Amino acid sequence: MIRIYDFDALSPEQILNRDLRAEKNVEDVVDAIIADVRARGDAALKEYALKFDGAEIDTLQVTQEEIDAAFAATDPDFLETLRMAAANIEAFHRQQVHKNFVMNEQDGVILGQKYTPIEKAGVYVPGGTAAYPSTVLMDVIPAKVAGVKEIVMTTPAGKDGKVSPVILAAAATAGVTKIFKTGGAQAVAALAYGTESVPAVDKIVGPGNIYVATAKRKVYGKVGIDMIAGPSEILVLADGKCNPAWVAADLLSQAEHDKLASPVLVTDSAELAEAVQAELEVQIPQLPRAAIARASVDDNGKIIVCDDLRKAIEACNIIAPEHLEVCVDDPFAVLNEIKNAGSIFLGRNVPEALGDYFAGPNHTLPTSGTARFSSPLGVDDFVKKSSFIYYTREALGKVQERIADFAEREGLHAHARSVTIRYEE
Ligand code: NAD
Repeated sequence: MIRIYDFDALSPEQILNRDLRAEKNVEDVVDAIIADVRARGDAALKEYALKFDGAEIDTLQVTQEEIDAAFAATDPDFLETLRMAAANIEAFHRQQVHKNFVMNEQDGVILGQKYTPIEKAGVYVPGGTAAYPSTVLMDVIPAKVAGVKEIVMTTPAGKDGKVSPVILAAAATAGVTKIFKTGGAQAVAALAYGTESVPAVDKIVGPGNIYVATAKRKVYGKVGIDMIAGPSEILVLADGKCNPAWVAADLLSQAEHDKLASPVLVTDSAELAEAVQAELEVQIPQLPRAAIARASVDDNGKIIVCDDLRKAIEACNIIAPEHLEVCVDDPFAVLNEIKNAGSIFLGRNVPEALGDYFAGPNHTLPTSGTARFSSPLGVDDFVKKSSFIYYTREALGKVQERIADFAEREGLHAHARSVTIRYEE
């Protein structure tokens, strides 16, 4: 049963209580897998597919025929849903595109900043205990909007050696054609270092379980990564007017993802806390993924009761949740007070699932308290900035002595000379 805590009895560490959970044994397993993929390439990927996914794989790359067949076999009504979701996601992410800028505020000086898409992006689509066609749309569409030329997608195959047809239908909708049947740490290693079949990319994005998240952290530096998007989290901030059945359903919508997922209710109502605790016990057994939800709720869930809304908001900012639902009378007033959260769902009529699938903002979000310093996946993850500087001879001449003096004070005489040499007779 989910436990109820009193906010005032908890330290900030106990409130957050969420590290990246990369225990030593996970680190060791991931290190060994990365080294093996670097040494043995495709052969290692096929072996791990058999070991972890029970999948016998001949050819790692999904063929165009497989993609076309999956697309043709998909319910046309679901294809329409995918198209509508894709249109919403594209429209939202188009708003994120930055403009280059140029400054010309001093005579003879031009300064600016330009954006360039990264060349090759690797997209990890989880596929262990569930299929996530939504993640295909969420990760591929911002890359397309940013102008990335080559997108390489990896996802684990099922026991039949095939990628789920809904994943392939979503890939076709989003316009990605290079898809490889590999998952977990080995997929991340393949994208970072390349194998005979899988091209090495410049940056790896997308959520995944603890093995995927740990592997991304390990290959960072060789490639870029978006963030550590690990096991899912939901925090529902609810007042006493909320329907406990709705709150419990929303908590379970994330609890069913993963035993390590974290569902948290923060409320100023002790009555609601108890009602939600009881309601979870009613709803968990009704879920097909009850075993996962049960572990998540009992081991990683909590209800925190606060004296007032102000303290409830403080708890949210400490936890910095991936998803935050604000179920109160005036959610926009609370929005101003929220400093740390990946995605914020405003009002009692906005279940987090709306954002997971359809509304448009991204669902690949920072977890484990990292929303204190990182943001949802977006177009920014697929572009780089370069600054540029132009000075005429006259403009440099006006400041050459100051620059040389600055450099001398740092003891960097070659810096100074590279400026002054241009004005020697
Ligand atoms: P997954 O694709 O992330 O992981 C499956 C892979 O994990 C397997 O192919 C295998 O290679 C590896 N693996 C499993 N057990 C292993 C072991 N004992 N040793 C080494 N490797 C092992 O799929 P999943 O497991 O279903 O997890 C999906 C995760 O993605 C969940 O945690 C879910 O919460 C998360 N998720 C997050 C977001 C987000 O935006 N943050 C969105 C969707 C899903």
